[in-house]
Amino acid sequence: MKLQVIGDPVLHSKSSVIHGAMLGLLGLDVPYTAHVVRRGELPDYLRWARDNGVTGFNATMPHKEDLLPLLDGIDPAAQTVGAVNTVCLRDGKWIGFSTDGGGAVAALEDGLGIGPAGLTVALLGAGGAAKAVALALAQAGAARVYVCNRTLARAEELCAHDPLGRLAPAAFDVDTLTALAETSQLLVNCTNLGMAGCDHQFEDFSFLEALPRDAAVFDAIYHPAETELLSQARRRGLKTLNGLPMLVNQAVLALEHFLDRPLERPAMAEAATAALNYN
Ligand code: NAP
Repeated sequence: MKLQVIGDPVLHSKSSVIHGAMLGLLGLDVPYTAHVVRRGELPDYLRWARDNGVTGFNATMPHKEDLLPLLDGIDPAAQTVGAVNTVCLRDGKWIGFSTDGGGAVAALEDGLGIGPAGLTVALLGAGGAAKAVALALAQAGAARVYVCNRTLARAEELCAHDPLGRLAPAAFDVDTLTALAETSQLLVNCTNLGMAGCDHQFEDFSFLEALPRDAAVFDAIYHPAETELLSQARRRGLKTLNGLPMLVNQAVLALEHFLDRPLERPAMAEAATAALNYN
């Protein structure tokens, strides 16, 4: 058994550290390595991987969508998201899964004790992460997820994928965010704003004032550990969570797919987090 993470770029990926820690905890001597695969090289990679004993891999940019037509089977959740980040060889067939959304839901439960059932959520962004998180929240029972995006058409397109009709597109201006915050118990940032290396920042954090006092703010970003959004929310007395538990939990779910068995999730997440803090 061999596991990999593929992408371009990929050598900066934390996946090897996370999976190495979890495999170590399980006492499994399974290599997990990063492998540069450029756009257009996926068919060659799939052939090479099969011939060289690779039984599963994680995929990052630019492959999450390009893999879909090349696989033999796709998990229904990944089909709805339109992207895969985990691929397993099962009975000689490549099967794709998406664990980003499930990782976010698990992170909210672990980190904030929040279950999505019945929640109204203001979710910022409509890119790949937003789509996975919004659909997973809807699937997990959120009553309403407002998908607020700078490019409204992209939010509308995302919401059109929701088979449950729980997603609603919205604008990204401060008046809209303020109005939606008033009725939301959870605000989730899935934009790049505040991420290390991103030149842009929220122009105005006043929408945080409108959130109920017991609301929580979850930022999918994990670098820096506390974005300006989370800092502003914390100073207003709101509960906060960064993106590290999402990163770790999506990897735990991926390893469950690779090994095709349930794992002791809190222990796995703890080992992975400790390894990340050390590396
Ligand atoms: P993406 O597909 O490129 O989407 C980026 C989103 O940010 C879009 O909604 C985009 O809006 C918005 N945006 C970018 N610049 C903006 C600005 N100046 N003002 C307002 N909105 C802006 O990226 P992604 O893959 O979804 O990643 C989004 C974030 O999630 C990143 O910070 C990433 O680090 C984080 N993430 C975390 C995890 C985790 O495991 N914790 C996993 C995946 C991603 P437009 O549509 O208008 O361009």
